[in-house]
Amino acid sequence: MTLVQDAFTSNWVAPLGPHVDGFERELSDATGTGHALALSSGTAAIHLALLAMGVQPGDWVLCQSFTFVGTLNPVMYTGATPVLIDSESDSWNMDPVALRKAIEAGLRKGIKPKVIMPVHLYGMPAKMTEIMAIAREYGIFVLEDAAEALGSTIGARPAGSFGDIAALSFNGNKIITTSGGGALVSDRGDWIDRARFIATQARDPAPHYQHSVVGYNYRLSNVLAAIGRGQLQVIGERVNARRANFERYREFFAAYSAISLLAEPSPDVQSNRWLTTILVDPALSEGITRETIRLAMEKENIETRPLWKPMHLQPVFADAPYFGDGLAERLFEDGLCLPSGSNLTDADFDRVFDVLSKILRPLCASSTDSAN
Ligand SMILES: *Cc1c(COP(=O)(O)O)cnc(C)c1O
Repeated sequence: MTLVQDAFTSNWVAPLGPHVDGFERELSDATGTGHALALSSGTAAIHLALLAMGVQPGDWVLCQSFTFVGTLNPVMYTGATPVLIDSESDSWNMDPVALRKAIEAGLRKGIKPKVIMPVHLYGMPAKMTEIMAIAREYGIFVLEDAAEALGSTIGARPAGSFGDIAALSFNGNKIITTSGGGALVSDRGDWIDRARFIATQARDPAPHYQHSVVGYNYRLSNVLAAIGRGQLQVIGERVNARRANFERYREFFAAYSAISLLAEPSPDVQSNRWLTTILVDPALSEGITRETIRLAMEKENIETRPLWKPMHLQPVFADAPYFGDGLAERLFEDGLCLPSGSNLTDADFDRVFDVLSKILRPLCASSTDSAN
């Protein structure tokens, strides 16, 4: 019997239930953390983490600008101020140098930032050793947005185990999915307990319904947790498939000096390669841009996407302070996410490489004397 069938035949189609407990145990094992809380989305997980850490209106939350809006929206729900930090070029994630500048700028205004929130974008781990050292130096909590990074590691330690607490997502597009879902993982049992309480309508212990603080309905259902448990069993295969996709693209693009892929910054860093991304160097690409490539692919019904548009360029965050020198903007200008699903076939790659070869022909020195 499958895990999902079990949820139905045991008639445990209610919110919560034994699969939620099992999924939470397995998530804390998978991330090497003491406690886990299964939730309805990654966005809800980030919101609850901020509340459990005591974030208040007006507090500074230091966020990576180069990310998906799901990182930032929960900061707005709390009334805190998102302070946007640029990326560095090794991982494309939070730049420790800009981070320190932001903290010092806050301190000069008499504001001690409350939380640092790095993201492991596209599965590539952020520079957690440097970021944690800065966080400890100033006594600031770290919330890892590991929504895209389940299965990524630094020195064999899982992404999500470095900060004080981490958020995961099981949205439909992520490396494993419950169709929609998320989780918090942490060694801080008190924070996980607090988040669990707030996520379940903040019911005070009493025989009747009694409430002294505002709560939310953010838990994951037993049926979706059963799906999650099945998905967790194949995370290793998913990571292998995504990494194999990256290798195929890397070999293909080796012939084109104008196109680069993000390498793992050191041998101890392993990305789950959730998405394979490329950068088109405008100095070498003879007028071909990421948009030329995107449109040519679209014509053949192949979906690609520009990299995340940085949050400091988004109208909704126009008032947020920003620290950096524009790397995230250049990544957005020149970068493209390629088809990266775990089920891509040889025929799919043939189609993709066929379009790319045609578009990039002017850039390939050996194209004129190749066999075809
Ligand atoms: C997907 C994602 C989120 C939000 O997760 P949901 O489950 O979709 O709410 C947050 N941050 C990042 C970086 C993400 O990719």
